[in-house]
Amino acid sequence: MTAKQIAIDGPAGAGKSTIAKMLAQHLGYVYIDTGAMYRAVALLAQRRAVSPEDQIALASLVQEARIQLDRNGHVFLNGEDVTQEIRLPEVGNMASAVSAVAAVREALVRQQREMASQQGVVMDGRDIGTVVLPQADCKIFLTASSRVRAERRTKELLEKGLSADLEQIQREIEERDYRDSHREISPLRQAEDAFLLDSSELDIPQVLEKMISLAEAKL
Ligand code: C5P
Repeated sequence: MTAKQIAIDGPAGAGKSTIAKMLAQHLGYVYIDTGAMYRAVALLAQRRAVSPEDQIALASLVQEARIQLDRNGHVFLNGEDVTQEIRLPEVGNMASAVSAVAAVREALVRQQREMASQQGVVMDGRDIGTVVLPQADCKIFLTASSRVRAERRTKELLEKGLSADLEQIQREIEERDYRDSHREISPLRQAEDAFLLDSSELDIPQVLEKMISLAEAKL
């Protein structure tokens, strides 16, 4: 039996990682947060003061970045736990820029496919259903309005004791959506065979319930 694959794509802040993690737990699969991988490369670029425009430097940087995801959602960059640091908004913005570079995508997509070949996975990102795992057993495109997504992100940051400005976060989310869906390689878009799920009016248990029934119908 081949390892089962569930692909979840959608814009920033739609709740993909929260739900994907819960879905993986429910199914007994491994959760793979591909955004965390782009964020880890972005953090390394930031620390080394590499510009997101410098494609040559980024191509060699990604070869140096050993990224590991453990079962508890921790992210390690060259052995260092960077789980918290990669969530900072400036790292997210840098990740969006860095992820438009072909060499970065190629290296990370290769790792993602390898991870998905070994075990049942729930993988979330922007290009999972379209590029990384086009043969996935179940594809879901999870979205929500930019206002709702900004409100959720603001609440998350405030709960962590970080400062957050709703209007600014909404602007950043919209800019990131635009960049992610207009870039040349692997733009954010719904795969033709993906199910569209809008979570603007749904709470977490409702989205999870819907996802479980979609996934189980396909497995
Ligand atoms: O999902 P998250 O917000 O953590 O992703 C950070 C950035 O990484 C996104 O803005 C997006 O540009 C990029 N990304 C990507 N492809 C993926 C996952 C994330 O381009 N599969």
